[in-house]
Amino acid sequence: MLNRYEPVIGLEIHAELMTQSKMFCGCRVVDSVTAAPNTAVCPVCLGMPGMLPVINRRAIDFAVRVALALGCDIQPHNIFARKNYFYPDLPKGYQISQYELPIGRHGALDVTLPGGRTSRIGIRRVHIEEDTGKLTHRDGGSLVDYNRSGVPLLEIVSEPDIRSGEEARAYATRIRQILRYLDVNSGDMEKGVLRIEPNISLRPRGSDAFGTRTELKNLNSFRALADGTDYELTRQAAVLDGGGRVIQETRGWHDTRRETFSQRVKEEAEDYRYFAEPDLPPLLIDPDWMVAARAALPELPQAKEARYTDAHGLSPYEAAALAEDRAVAEWFDAVIAAGGRPKTAANWILNDLFRLMNERGRSIADLPVSPAAFVALLGRVEGGEVNGASAREVLAEMVDSGGDPAAIIAARGLSQLSDEAALAAIIDGIIAANPDAVANYLGGKESLLAWFVGQAMRATRGQGNPALINRLLRERLEARRSA
Ligand SMILES: [Zn+2]
Repeated sequence: MLNRYEPVIGLEIHAELMTQSKMFCGCRVVDSVTAAPNTAVCPVCLGMPGMLPVINRRAIDFAVRVALALGCDIQPHNIFARKNYFYPDLPKGYQISQYELPIGRHGALDVTLPGGRTSRIGIRRVHIEEDTGKLTHRDGGSLVDYNRSGVPLLEIVSEPDIRSGEEARAYATRIRQILRYLDVNSGDMEKGVLRIEPNISLRPRGSDAFGTRTELKNLNSFRALADGTDYELTRQAAVLDGGGRVIQETRGWHDTRRETFSQRVKEEAEDYRYFAEPDLPPLLIDPDWMVAARAALPELPQAKEARYTDAHGLSPYEAAALAEDRAVAEWFDAVIAAGGRPKTAANWILNDLFRLMNERGRSIADLPVSPAAFVALLGRVEGGEVNGASAREVLAEMVDSGGDPAAIIAARGLSQLSDEAALAAIIDGIIAANPDAVANYLGGKESLLAWFVGQAMRATRGQGNPALINRLLRERLEARRSA
């Protein structure tokens, strides 16, 4: 059904900024889920007559950082605008936003899809606005909490370059990751601090014109984004195939019924009667400010992934898994700086360390293992001083209570037995005690080698050097063949 049509999808992402205070007043930004309602409010964010807003410099700083990270041109001359509409969660009757002159424009973000294909999504604009209050509908009425009113909100608007629900998900996931890298948004979607609104339309393949679009409101999970978008594409194709026309409207996503439903016919920009906010001066971002903001940018996840694959020889999967969270990536970087071998370190982090952290409920921030101690442990495995199974035991203790790997190895008696003569004596004993197994092995049942290795490991209480045991066993069993 979709073969005849090309999907055209653009995303608006609203991200609350993690500033201490609100966008235009000194009220604290509080957790909108746990804080008591209407406890972080003042005449400014309650929209009282005569109040005057003051711009939060830190919020602008965050917005500039995000715009730079998304490759936008920064507008040195910004104007705030009033977006007029009436709703009970908006006590002023207008929202202070930006319209003609946003902070950033003309950016782009490359996203990689699960199959490995990369596509470039244009960023139309990045602008600042203020959040609204929160309504709770109860039987017989509605409650309104203005704690969220005036919280700085960043809106990131993509070009309509997205072609599927999966691509929308990949783009939004990357945006969330960048916002977390920049420390400007927690990414807690279940708390509503990041909301996604795709606008979706179809056009005949080969056409340049845009079809009529619908907008899905306030999606707060990536799954809802991908599934809601795909549902809407299929719905619109069915409407068009049936000879109907798509109505421009706002639709909601029903998470349990897995379908979209009509909410209201969409307002046009002119319905909002935008005009320059008379209570605020123009916002000027001077060159020094821009230089400082650029200098404060961390290495971004895309750059980390490229460095991990190109310079360190990791697979794209390993690179993405390590770069997913900035704290983990920086810990991995510190391991490499401390002399860890990238491929080995990546393996141990992604398999053993992540498993242990998961079991123990630890995050990288409260991990008592220093990168240097981790490298020291890997060095002992590589040097044959401790085998893999024992090293996992040591790592578990390090994750529980810190400590130096050498001290743990000594205290637990986990040093690997690599004394060739001692291992040979043990192996000769096992061979002598198991003539039937030897005969079967020599008769062609070579899988018995693993059984012999197991016997030798048991005889060394798990501390034998497995590579050496393998070699000695093979040599001594084969020697019997020719004897
Ligand atoms: Zn306030």
